[in-house]
Amino acid sequence: MALLSIVLPAYNEEQNIANVAEVLSGLLEENGIDYELVFISDGSKDGTYAEILKASEKNPRIRGAEFSRNFGKEAGIFAGLELTTGDAVVVMDCDLQHPPEVIPKMWELWQKGAEIVEGIKISRGRESLGHRLSAGLFYKIMSGLIKIDMNASSDFKLLDRKVVDVLLALPERNTFFRALSFWAGFRTESIQYEVQERKYGESKWSFWSLMKYAVSNATSFSTLPLQMVTVIGLVSILFSAVLAVQTLVRFLMGDSVEGFTTVILLLLIIGGFLMLSLGVIGHYIARIYEEVKGRPKYIISKVTENVQGQVTGSWKRGGEYRK
Ligand code: UDP
Ligand code: MG
Repeated sequence: MALLSIVLPAYNEEQNIANVAEVLSGLLEENGIDYELVFISDGSKDGTYAEILKASEKNPRIRGAEFSRNFGKEAGIFAGLELTTGDAVVVMDCDLQHPPEVIPKMWELWQKGAEIVEGIKISRGRESLGHRLSAGLFYKIMSGLIKIDMNASSDFKLLDRKVVDVLLALPERNTFFRALSFWAGFRTESIQYEVQERKYGESKWSFWSLMKYAVSNATSFSTLPLQMVTVIGLVSILFSAVLAVQTLVRFLMGDSVEGFTTVILLLLIIGGFLMLSLGVIGHYIARIYEEVKGRPKYIISKVTENVQGQVTGSWKRGGEYRK
């Protein structure tokens, strides 16, 4: 019988673990789906991992790991994928904002031959205005740069084992899961769902963390900002050619431009553009530097009993992990 794995990245979600484990196992058993749940505690500062351990002792289908520090949701997702053994894998948030009722439908589409089932969100539930605005800006930037409608797409999706293997084999460190499944291709179906309200706790994304995420994903998926530097350069060359001719003509006619004001303004404008362009280029160099260093995406510090000895991965240094 085919096995469904569910990956749940969790950062400071101690109130949600037991609940989501219960809801999911109840639902999947009801639907006669053979399953495993893989929780990744992303260096949580509360009792998230203790809750995962407890759940795992109650239900051996629950596996889990703890990171040595907070590595971010992307790392959590990839660590989770690495620990899965299922024929199909669903990735979802563990705050139940992704409605579990959709999973059996995704599973059905998978059984009918879909290799990726994208969760498309209809609305973002009720969230604070500030969060909606920053998330809105985030998705605008993203959609513009990587040409995928980021507003509707989400990390809630089902992947066939072969897609998971493709993603896990990617050597890049700076991943963007949501867009990588589009990039990978394969037979894709989509399914709409309504974003639910968070049960406990609050969103882990601040305005700045979203902006950082946007910039890092934009640079990992698009070289448009680099090309913009060239475009700005061309435009300013054209502009300066016109100005140069005008200035020379006026000079030859014995009526040169007056004072330092013009010079100062020009210097400031050019200086500004130069700095900005250097910044953009610097950002890409930083990305290259990070990739070249080849550090692992995450470090696992603890795993539950049922993971011991079964997994291999770049993070595994040999020897066993403590519970
Ligand atoms: N998350 C994580 N690491 C982080 C931030 C978030 O693993 O550094 C997890 C979090 O526990 C949740 C999911 O990612 O399961 C989505 O986070 P959140 O609900 O805060 O985001 P939102 O739903 O507001 O986009
Ligand atoms: Mg959430």
